[in-house]
Amino acid sequence: MARQEREPAALEKLGQQLLAWYEHNQRDLPWRRSRDPYAIWVSEIMLQQTRVAVVEERYRVFLERFPTLIALAAAPEQDVLALWSGLGYYRRARMLHKAAQFVLSHHNGNLPATAAELRLLPGIGSYTAAAIASIAHGERVAVVDGNVERVLCRMQGWDASRRSGGAALRRRIESLAEKLLDAQRPGDSNQALMELGATVCIPRSPKCMSCPLARDCKTRGEHKTQPRPRMLSQEVACALAVRTIGEPGHARREVLLEQRPAAQTVMPGMWQLPALREAAVPGPELLMTVRHAIMQVNYYVRVRSVREDEVGVLTVAAGEQRWVPLVHAAGMALTGLTRKVLTRAHLLRALPLGAVAR
Ligand code: SF4
Repeated sequence: MARQEREPAALEKLGQQLLAWYEHNQRDLPWRRSRDPYAIWVSEIMLQQTRVAVVEERYRVFLERFPTLIALAAAPEQDVLALWSGLGYYRRARMLHKAAQFVLSHHNGNLPATAAELRLLPGIGSYTAAAIASIAHGERVAVVDGNVERVLCRMQGWDASRRSGGAALRRRIESLAEKLLDAQRPGDSNQALMELGATVCIPRSPKCMSCPLARDCKTRGEHKTQPRPRMLSQEVACALAVRTIGEPGHARREVLLEQRPAAQTVMPGMWQLPALREAAVPGPELLMTVRHAIMQVNYYVRVRSVREDEVGVLTVAAGEQRWVPLVHAAGMALTGLTRKVLTRAHLLRALPLGAVAR
Protein backbone atom coordinates (compact mmCIF):
# COMPACT_ATOMS: atom_id res chain seq x y z
CA MET A 1 0.00 0.00 0.00
CA ALA A 2 1.68 3.21 -1.11
CA ARG A 3 1.85 5.90 1.59
CA GLN A 4 0.81 9.06 -0.20
CA GLU A 5 -0.65 11.55 2.23
CA ARG A 6 -2.49 14.60 1.01
CA GLU A 7 -2.16 18.08 2.48
CA PRO A 8 -5.06 19.28 4.69
CA ALA A 9 -5.81 22.10 2.25
CA ALA A 10 -6.01 19.65 -0.66
CA LEU A 11 -8.37 17.42 1.31
CA GLU A 12 -10.55 20.38 2.20
CA LYS A 13 -10.75 21.29 -1.47
CA LEU A 14 -11.70 17.74 -2.40
CA GLY A 15 -14.39 17.75 0.28
CA GLN A 16 -15.84 20.96 -1.17
CA GLN A 17 -15.79 19.57 -4.73
CA LEU A 18 -17.64 16.55 -3.48
CA LEU A 19 -20.29 18.68 -1.73
CA ALA A 20 -20.79 20.86 -4.81
CA TRP A 21 -21.23 17.74 -6.95
CA TYR A 22 -23.74 16.32 -4.45
CA GLU A 23 -25.84 19.48 -4.45
CA HIS A 24 -26.43 19.15 -8.19
CA ASN A 25 -26.47 15.38 -8.62
CA GLN A 26 -28.06 13.77 -5.59
CA ARG A 27 -31.05 11.55 -6.16
CA ASP A 28 -34.32 12.77 -4.71
CA LEU A 29 -34.88 10.10 -2.08
CA PRO A 30 -37.59 10.32 0.59
CA TRP A 31 -35.29 9.92 3.58
CA ARG A 32 -33.22 12.87 2.39
CA ARG A 33 -36.19 15.15 3.07
CA SER A 34 -36.13 14.35 6.78
CA ARG A 35 -33.89 15.24 9.69
CA ASP A 36 -35.89 13.03 12.05
CA PRO A 37 -33.33 10.67 13.66
CA TYR A 38 -35.91 7.86 13.83
CA ALA A 39 -36.75 8.13 10.11
CA ILE A 40 -33.05 8.23 9.21
CA TRP A 41 -32.44 5.18 11.38
CA VAL A 42 -35.23 3.24 9.63
CA SER A 43 -33.88 4.17 6.19
CA GLU A 44 -30.31 3.20 7.07
CA ILE A 45 -31.37 -0.22 8.35
CA MET A 46 -33.56 -0.83 5.28
CA LEU A 47 -30.78 0.21 2.90
CA GLN A 48 -28.35 -2.36 4.27
CA GLN A 49 -28.30 -5.19 1.70
CA THR A 50 -31.37 -3.90 -0.18
CA ARG A 51 -31.63 -1.89 -3.39
CA VAL A 52 -32.71 1.76 -3.17
CA ALA A 53 -35.64 1.24 -5.57
CA VAL A 54 -37.09 -1.47 -3.30
CA VAL A 55 -36.52 0.54 -0.14
CA GLU A 56 -38.14 3.73 -1.46
CA GLU A 57 -41.65 2.29 -1.53
CA ARG A 58 -41.35 0.18 1.61
CA TYR A 59 -39.87 3.05 3.64
CA ARG A 60 -42.90 5.22 2.93
CA VAL A 61 -45.38 2.50 3.91
CA PHE A 62 -43.38 1.55 7.01
CA LEU A 63 -43.30 5.13 8.28
CA GLU A 64 -47.00 5.64 7.63
CA ARG A 65 -47.75 2.60 9.75
CA PHE A 66 -45.05 3.34 12.37
CA PRO A 67 -44.55 7.12 12.21
CA THR A 68 -42.66 7.30 15.51
CA LEU A 69 -40.28 5.20 17.50
CA ILE A 70 -43.00 4.80 20.14
CA ALA A 71 -45.45 3.45 17.57
CA LEU A 72 -42.86 0.95 16.40
CA ALA A 73 -41.98 -0.14 19.93
CA ALA A 74 -45.65 -0.72 20.76
CA ALA A 75 -46.37 -2.87 17.68
CA PRO A 76 -46.43 -6.68 17.76
CA GLU A 77 -43.38 -8.22 16.10
CA GLN A 78 -45.55 -9.97 13.49
CA ASP A 79 -46.81 -6.57 12.28
CA VAL A 80 -43.26 -5.28 11.93
CA LEU A 81 -42.22 -8.40 10.01
CA ALA A 82 -45.27 -8.09 7.77
CA LEU A 83 -44.18 -4.62 6.65
CA TRP A 84 -40.63 -5.89 6.20
CA SER A 85 -41.82 -8.75 4.01
CA GLY A 86 -39.95 -8.70 0.70
CA LEU A 87 -37.04 -6.64 2.01
CA GLY A 88 -35.24 -9.76 3.22
CA TYR A 89 -32.76 -10.12 6.04
CA TYR A 90 -35.54 -10.15 8.61
CA ARG A 91 -33.14 -10.09 11.51
CA ARG A 92 -32.77 -6.36 10.75
CA ALA A 93 -36.49 -5.83 11.40
CA ARG A 94 -36.38 -7.78 14.65
CA MET A 95 -33.34 -5.84 15.87
CA LEU A 96 -34.90 -2.51 14.88
CA HIS A 97 -38.04 -3.43 16.78
CA LYS A 98 -36.12 -4.59 19.87
CA ALA A 99 -33.92 -1.50 19.82
CA ALA A 100 -37.02 0.74 19.62
CA GLN A 101 -38.40 -1.02 22.72
CA PHE A 102 -35.04 -0.58 24.47
CA VAL A 103 -34.99 3.16 23.65
CA LEU A 104 -38.55 3.49 24.93
CA SER A 105 -37.76 1.81 28.23
CA HIS A 106 -34.26 3.23 28.81
CA HIS A 107 -34.32 6.63 27.07
CA ASN A 108 -37.95 7.71 27.33
CA GLY A 109 -38.42 7.04 23.63
CA ASN A 110 -35.73 9.54 22.54
CA LEU A 111 -32.86 8.25 20.44
CA PRO A 112 -29.52 9.44 21.89
CA ALA A 113 -27.92 12.19 19.82
CA THR A 114 -24.25 11.21 19.64
CA ALA A 115 -22.64 8.40 17.68
CA ALA A 116 -20.89 7.13 20.83
CA GLU A 117 -24.21 6.78 22.70
CA LEU A 118 -26.03 5.34 19.69
CA ARG A 119 -23.41 2.60 19.35
CA LEU A 120 -24.38 1.36 22.80
CA LEU A 121 -27.90 0.49 21.63
CA PRO A 122 -28.66 -3.07 20.59
CA GLY A 123 -28.45 -3.55 16.82
CA ILE A 124 -26.81 -0.18 16.04
CA GLY A 125 -23.27 -0.52 14.74
CA SER A 126 -20.72 2.22 14.07
CA TYR A 127 -21.97 2.79 10.50
CA THR A 128 -25.61 3.38 11.49
CA ALA A 129 -24.64 5.40 14.56
CA ALA A 130 -22.46 7.71 12.46
CA ALA A 131 -25.17 8.12 9.82
CA ILE A 132 -27.84 9.10 12.36
CA ALA A 133 -25.54 11.41 14.37
CA SER A 134 -24.11 13.24 11.36
CA ILE A 135 -27.28 13.58 9.28
CA ALA A 136 -29.78 14.31 12.06
CA HIS A 137 -27.53 16.17 14.52
CA GLY A 138 -24.60 17.46 12.47
CA GLU A 139 -21.96 15.54 14.45
CA ARG A 140 -18.62 15.48 12.68
CA VAL A 141 -18.23 11.74 12.40
CA ALA A 142 -17.50 9.83 9.20
CA VAL A 143 -19.78 7.14 7.81
CA VAL A 144 -17.79 4.35 6.19
CA ASP A 145 -19.77 1.77 4.23
CA GLY A 146 -18.70 -0.39 1.28
CA ASN A 147 -19.29 2.45 -1.17
CA VAL A 148 -17.14 4.91 0.77
CA GLU A 149 -14.42 2.32 1.19
CA ARG A 150 -14.34 1.65 -2.57
CA VAL A 151 -14.24 5.34 -3.55
CA LEU A 152 -11.46 6.25 -1.14
CA CYS A 153 -9.32 3.20 -1.94
CA ARG A 154 -9.56 3.96 -5.64
CA MET A 155 -8.88 7.63 -5.10
CA GLN A 156 -5.78 6.86 -3.05
CA GLY A 157 -4.63 3.86 -5.03
CA TRP A 158 -4.95 1.66 -1.96
CA ASP A 159 -5.38 -2.05 -2.52
CA ALA A 160 -8.79 -2.76 -0.98
CA SER A 161 -8.60 -6.44 -1.81
CA ARG A 162 -5.68 -7.10 0.48
CA ARG A 163 -7.12 -8.80 3.51
CA SER A 164 -3.98 -8.88 5.65
CA GLY A 165 -3.67 -5.65 7.60
CA GLY A 166 -7.39 -5.01 7.02
CA ALA A 167 -7.81 -3.20 10.33
CA ALA A 168 -4.97 -0.79 9.52
CA LEU A 169 -6.48 -0.07 6.09
CA ARG A 170 -9.87 0.47 7.68
CA ARG A 171 -8.38 3.06 10.11
CA ARG A 172 -6.74 4.91 7.22
CA ILE A 173 -10.03 4.97 5.31
CA GLU A 174 -11.92 6.28 8.36
CA SER A 175 -9.27 8.91 9.00
CA LEU A 176 -9.38 10.08 5.38
CA ALA A 177 -13.20 10.13 5.34
CA GLU A 178 -13.16 12.30 8.46
CA LYS A 179 -10.77 14.77 6.87
CA LEU A 180 -13.11 15.18 3.90
CA LEU A 181 -16.04 16.19 6.11
CA ASP A 182 -17.30 19.74 5.92
CA ALA A 183 -17.35 21.19 9.44
CA GLN A 184 -20.79 22.73 8.96
CA ARG A 185 -22.43 19.96 6.94
CA PRO A 186 -20.91 16.63 7.91
CA GLY A 187 -24.17 14.80 7.15
CA ASP A 188 -24.17 16.09 3.57
CA SER A 189 -20.46 15.26 3.19
CA ASN A 190 -21.13 11.70 4.28
CA GLN A 191 -24.09 11.35 1.96
CA ALA A 192 -22.08 12.86 -0.91
CA LEU A 193 -19.38 10.22 -0.63
CA MET A 194 -21.92 7.40 -0.33
CA GLU A 195 -23.85 8.79 -3.30
CA LEU A 196 -20.71 8.98 -5.40
CA GLY A 197 -20.00 5.33 -4.63
CA ALA A 198 -23.57 4.30 -5.41
CA THR A 199 -23.96 6.18 -8.70
CA VAL A 200 -20.53 7.03 -10.19
CA CYS A 201 -17.69 5.08 -8.60
CA ILE A 202 -19.67 1.88 -8.95
CA PRO A 203 -18.08 -1.56 -8.43
CA ARG A 204 -17.72 -2.38 -12.14
CA SER A 205 -17.04 0.18 -14.88
CA PRO A 206 -16.88 3.36 -12.77
CA LYS A 207 -17.97 6.52 -14.62
CA CYS A 208 -14.73 8.39 -14.15
CA MET A 209 -15.63 10.98 -16.82
CA SER A 210 -18.46 12.21 -14.57
CA CYS A 211 -16.54 12.03 -11.30
CA PRO A 212 -15.79 15.20 -9.33
CA LEU A 213 -12.67 13.54 -7.89
CA ALA A 214 -11.24 12.40 -11.23
CA ARG A 215 -8.44 14.98 -11.38
CA ASP A 216 -7.18 13.89 -7.99
CA CYS A 217 -7.87 10.18 -8.32
CA LYS A 218 -4.81 7.95 -8.45
CA THR A 219 -6.46 5.09 -10.34
CA ARG A 220 -9.26 6.52 -12.55
CA GLY A 221 -10.62 3.12 -13.39
CA GLU A 222 -7.21 1.42 -13.49
CA HIS A 223 -7.89 -0.63 -10.40
CA LYS A 224 -8.40 -4.28 -9.74
CA THR A 225 -12.06 -5.22 -9.58
CA GLN A 226 -13.13 -7.77 -7.05
CA PRO A 227 -14.45 -10.88 -8.81
CA ARG A 228 -18.19 -11.38 -8.49
CA PRO A 229 -19.06 -14.00 -5.89
CA ARG A 230 -20.24 -17.17 -7.62
CA MET A 231 -23.93 -17.87 -7.16
CA LEU A 232 -24.99 -21.39 -6.26
CA SER A 233 -28.19 -22.93 -7.63
CA GLN A 234 -30.72 -25.01 -5.83
CA GLU A 235 -34.04 -26.46 -6.96
CA VAL A 236 -36.98 -26.68 -4.57
CA ALA A 237 -40.72 -27.27 -4.92
CA CYS A 238 -43.62 -25.82 -3.00
CA ALA A 239 -47.38 -26.24 -2.95
CA LEU A 240 -49.95 -23.60 -3.76
CA ALA A 241 -53.26 -24.77 -2.33
CA VAL A 242 -56.27 -22.46 -2.65
CA ARG A 243 -59.83 -23.31 -1.65
CA THR A 244 -63.16 -21.54 -1.77
CA ILE A 245 -65.51 -21.80 1.21
CA GLY A 246 -68.92 -20.37 2.10
CA GLU A 247 -72.17 -20.00 0.19
CA PRO A 248 -72.30 -18.41 -3.28
CA GLY A 249 -72.45 -14.66 -2.84
CA HIS A 250 -70.58 -14.91 0.48
CA ALA A 251 -67.82 -17.23 -0.63
CA ARG A 252 -64.22 -16.44 0.22
CA ARG A 253 -60.94 -17.84 -1.04
CA GLU A 254 -58.29 -19.10 1.31
CA VAL A 255 -54.67 -20.12 0.80
CA LEU A 256 -52.76 -22.68 2.80
CA LEU A 257 -49.82 -21.13 4.64
CA GLU A 258 -47.35 -22.54 7.10
CA GLN A 259 -45.56 -20.71 9.91
CA ARG A 260 -41.85 -21.36 10.23
CA PRO A 261 -41.04 -22.62 13.73
CA ALA A 262 -39.70 -20.05 16.23
CA ALA A 263 -36.57 -22.18 16.68
CA GLN A 264 -35.55 -21.79 13.01
CA THR A 265 -32.42 -19.71 12.57
CA VAL A 266 -33.65 -18.32 9.23
CA MET A 267 -36.90 -16.31 9.13
CA PRO A 268 -38.41 -17.75 12.33
CA GLY A 269 -42.12 -17.08 12.77
CA MET A 270 -42.67 -16.04 9.16
CA TRP A 271 -45.37 -17.51 6.91
CA GLN A 272 -44.57 -19.50 3.77
CA LEU A 273 -46.09 -21.91 1.27
CA PRO A 274 -45.66 -25.54 2.37
CA ALA A 275 -42.93 -27.58 0.70
CA LEU A 276 -43.92 -30.45 -1.59
CA ARG A 277 -42.86 -33.98 -0.75
CA GLU A 278 -40.11 -34.99 -3.16
CA ALA A 279 -42.03 -38.08 -4.21
CA ALA A 280 -44.89 -35.78 -5.26
CA VAL A 281 -42.80 -34.07 -7.92
CA PRO A 282 -43.70 -33.84 -10.76
CA GLY A 283 -47.18 -35.15 -9.85
CA PRO A 284 -49.39 -32.10 -9.37
CA GLU A 285 -49.86 -29.38 -11.96
CA LEU A 286 -46.90 -27.04 -12.43
CA LEU A 287 -48.10 -23.43 -12.10
CA MET A 288 -44.85 -21.53 -12.43
CA THR A 289 -41.14 -21.62 -11.80
CA VAL A 290 -39.78 -18.69 -9.84
CA ARG A 291 -36.17 -17.66 -9.37
CA HIS A 292 -35.53 -16.28 -5.92
CA ALA A 293 -32.07 -15.18 -4.78
CA ILE A 294 -31.10 -15.32 -1.13
CA MET A 295 -27.54 -14.26 -0.43
CA GLN A 296 -25.29 -16.38 -2.69
CA VAL A 297 -27.95 -18.91 -3.69
CA ASN A 298 -30.35 -18.77 -6.64
CA TYR A 299 -33.37 -20.88 -5.74
CA TYR A 300 -35.37 -22.21 -8.67
CA VAL A 301 -38.74 -22.85 -7.11
CA ARG A 302 -41.30 -25.00 -8.88
CA VAL A 303 -44.73 -24.03 -7.65
CA ARG A 304 -47.36 -26.73 -8.09
CA SER A 305 -51.08 -26.59 -7.58
CA VAL A 306 -52.38 -28.86 -4.81
CA ARG A 307 -56.03 -29.55 -4.01
CA GLU A 308 -57.32 -29.33 -0.43
CA ASP A 309 -57.83 -33.10 -0.19
CA GLU A 310 -54.22 -33.72 -1.35
CA VAL A 311 -52.54 -31.45 1.18
CA GLY A 312 -51.90 -34.10 3.83
CA VAL A 313 -50.30 -36.48 1.35
CA LEU A 314 -48.37 -34.08 -0.85
CA THR A 315 -46.98 -31.46 1.52
CA VAL A 316 -44.35 -31.57 4.23
CA ALA A 317 -45.70 -29.97 7.40
CA ALA A 318 -42.60 -28.20 8.72
CA GLY A 319 -44.65 -25.93 10.99
CA GLU A 320 -48.21 -24.99 11.85
CA GLN A 321 -50.35 -24.98 8.68
CA ARG A 322 -53.36 -22.69 8.45
CA TRP A 323 -55.95 -21.78 5.82
CA VAL A 324 -55.82 -18.00 5.57
CA PRO A 325 -58.38 -15.79 3.78
CA LEU A 326 -56.58 -14.16 0.85
CA VAL A 327 -57.75 -10.73 1.98
CA HIS A 328 -55.74 -11.21 5.20
CA ALA A 329 -52.65 -12.78 3.68
CA ALA A 330 -51.21 -9.48 2.42
CA GLY A 331 -50.95 -8.14 5.96
CA MET A 332 -49.12 -11.17 7.32
CA ALA A 333 -45.40 -11.67 7.83
CA LEU A 334 -44.92 -13.58 4.57
CA THR A 335 -41.50 -14.66 3.36
CA GLY A 336 -40.34 -12.77 0.27
CA LEU A 337 -40.71 -15.89 -1.88
CA THR A 338 -44.28 -16.50 -0.72
CA ARG A 339 -45.25 -12.89 -1.41
CA LYS A 340 -43.65 -13.15 -4.85
CA VAL A 341 -45.51 -16.36 -5.74
CA LEU A 342 -48.90 -15.12 -4.48
CA THR A 343 -48.48 -11.83 -6.34
CA ARG A 344 -47.52 -13.57 -9.60
CA ALA A 345 -50.49 -15.91 -9.21
CA HIS A 346 -52.68 -12.77 -8.95
CA LEU A 347 -53.84 -13.85 -5.51
CA LEU A 348 -52.26 -10.95 -3.69
CA ARG A 349 -51.91 -7.29 -4.47
CA ALA A 350 -48.95 -5.20 -3.33
CA LEU A 351 -49.04 -4.69 0.42
CA PRO A 352 -51.71 -2.04 0.96
CA LEU A 353 -51.28 0.61 3.59
CA GLY A 354 -53.23 -0.38 6.68
CA ALA A 355 -53.23 -4.04 5.70
CA VAL A 356 -51.56 -4.77 9.00
CA ALA A 357 -53.96 -4.69 11.91
CA ARG A 358 -53.48 -1.77 14.24
S1 SF4 B 1 -12.10 8.88 -10.92
FE1 SF4 B 1 -13.11 6.93 -11.29
S2 SF4 B 1 -12.08 5.46 -9.96
FE2 SF4 B 1 -11.52 7.52 -9.26
S3 SF4 B 1 -12.99 7.96 -7.63
FE3 SF4 B 1 -13.83 8.80 -9.52
S4 SF4 B 1 -15.13 7.19 -10.40
FE4 SF4 B 1 -13.83 6.27 -8.82
